[in-house]
Formats: sequence, C-alpha cells, structure tokens
Amino acid sequence: MKDYYKILGVSNNASLNEIKQAYRKLAIKYHPDKNQNNKIAEEKFKEAAEAYSVLSDSNKKKMYDINKQNNSNTNYEYTEDMDDILNNLGDIFGESFESFTDFNFTRKKKKYNKIKGSNLRINLAVTLEDINKGVEKIIKVKRLKVDPNIKFKNCYNCNGTGVVTNITKTFLGRMQTTIKCNICNGIGKVIFPQNANTNNQGLIKVEELIKIKIPSGVTEGIELKIHGKGNEAPYGGKPGDLIIIIKEIQHKIFKRKGKNIYYDLYISIPDAILGTYKNIKTLNEIIKINIKSGTQNGKKIIIKKKGLPSINGYEYGDFIIKIIVWIPKIINNKQKKIFEKIRNDKNFMINK
Ligand SMILES: [Zn+2]
Repeated sequence: MKDYYKILGVSNNASLNEIKQAYRKLAIKYHPDKNQNNKIAEEKFKEAAEAYSVLSDSNKKKMYDINKQNNSNTNYEYTEDMDDILNNLGDIFGESFESFTDFNFTRKKKKYNKIKGSNLRINLAVTLEDINKGVEKIIKVKRLKVDPNIKFKNCYNCNGTGVVTNITKTFLGRMQTTIKCNICNGIGKVIFPQNANTNNQGLIKVEELIKIKIPSGVTEGIELKIHGKGNEAPYGGKPGDLIIIIKEIQHKIFKRKGKNIYYDLYISIPDAILGTYKNIKTLNEIIKINIKSGTQNGKKIIIKKKGLPSINGYEYGDFIIKIIVWIPKIINNKQKKIFEKIRNDKNFMINK
C-alpha cells in the first residue's frame, strides 16, 4: 500500500493547506519542463499528483485513512496522463504554473470545464526543401465536432449535478459517499434528440481543411501542436489539439544529420590530379568550390553555415562535401597504355 503522506513528505495529520504546499514544492521540483527525458522525475511527478488527488479530496482521504489503519488497499481513480496532470496544476496553483517555458511547441494552457476533446495525431511528410525554408500546408482532417442540431438537458438521474449521493453502512457506522453519475458520466447533461449520425455525446465526424505552418528546421518525429484543432468536446468543453508529427522524406541527393547537410561529390581522376572548379547547388544557392590539384578520395570540404537552420532560425548547420574520385569502369587500349606507362612512375606510388 502506497503511503501518500510519505510521498508528499507530510505528517499523517497534515492540514489541507500543508498538503497543498507540499505538493506544490514537489510539482516544481519534478516538473517535466525542468526534468526533460528524466524517467525518475516523471514517476515522482505522477506519484505526487496521485497522492495529492487522494489526500486533497475529503471523501477519498477519509476512506484512505480508514484503509491505511487496517492496512488494506483501496483503488482510486486518478489520471496518469501527463497533460491532464499539468492542466490540473494550472487549476490548483494558477495559470502560469502549468509550464515553465513559452516555447512555441511546448504545452499551452488548456483550461477546460469538465471534458476535453481528444487530441488528433496526424503524420505529415515534408521534404528537405520544406524544412529548409519552412512551409505552409493545407491538410485534410476528420474531426469530431459538436452537432449543431443537438440540444442538451439536465440529467434526470442526478438533476444536473453530475453526482449521486449514496449512504453506505460501514463498521464505523453510516457513511455518505458521493459518486459520479453513471447516466451522464458526471457531466450533468444528456443530449436530445438522438440522431443517427451523431455519437452519444452529440458529436459528428466532419472533414475539414486546416492550414498549418511548418517552421524551418523541424526534425523527424517532432510534434507540432495546433491548439484546439483536435476533436471538439461535448457539453461545452474545450476542443482537443491537433498534433502534427513530422516525417522527413529522404532527399535524392543530400543526407541530413541534425543541421548539417552531407553531399557526395564525384570527380574524375584527371580533376583530382590536376585540380578544377565545380559549381555545387546547395539548398539555397550555387557555390563555386575549388578542387585543389592532388585532392584525395574521401576528402571533406566543409562550407560553414550553408546547412539547415535550427528550429528558431538563429543558427545554421554546415554543408559538407565529401569528394569521391570516380574510377572509370571501361577504358580503351590507348588509355590503357597511358596508365601502363605511369603505373611504376614514382609520382604514382603511394606516399602517405
Ligand atoms: Zn447525471
């Protein structure tokens, strides 16, 4: 059995205010914005949220205390979803608490009444050219929207309160417990009339075109959140988010590693020996490069800051050219004789 008091670091007779303060401290300490990719911090953060959700609710706390004395377990409903925990933080401690950063793609405050629409996740393939400049795209999304023909009325089971009060007999005497109404699922409202195309929450699936802006510098797997463009919520709740997952289409010529672009440049044996100039088409421009005489196969030429921009556009990666000397597969007799002649020349001996 989990000791919620120990988790929050408070005594067994801590006041609600002490419990709240303890949770606040832990939520700051283990907040995901401060502990990115830290599994242990995430577990501690969730554990603290769970402990708080029970100890801050007088009914749940009462049951927990009784069960704790008897050393028997109780199962409570609580959320393990990070977004929900973060949203609740905003509700408990104020709006600014939810996130420590104002970075565009991190969580935005999502305050909602009772139910939040679910998020939609869509893969979006982008080219390296798109990533280089940033791009605007119009995508087709099937999302749930509130059916405008549907009306709501107060739930007959709970009279619109969302909860039903039960009297139960325990060994300590009669106990009053309040549980979620199972007819309206705690919402307090039911829909009418029932319509064939709408679901039991009064939502209907609609195809919609949504314009989205992909910033330059995005990477494979990055998730862009379009606030409020996910499924709408029933009963006046806030809509979910549309989450765009970036998939990078492999470029025909260039390879990408982070902000750097890699390009294999094939040159002929005479060019490698004698030197030459080559025009290289990068993503943005044509750059003339000097292949010096005596250039070895595998040599790298780094052109600084001609790669991809970082996601905030302040930094640029490099454009890295790898020289590959092309060895002809077919030569004629005359050429054969030239190479026979120079085969044993000391300038053609390997001399590292
Ligand atoms: Zn109800």
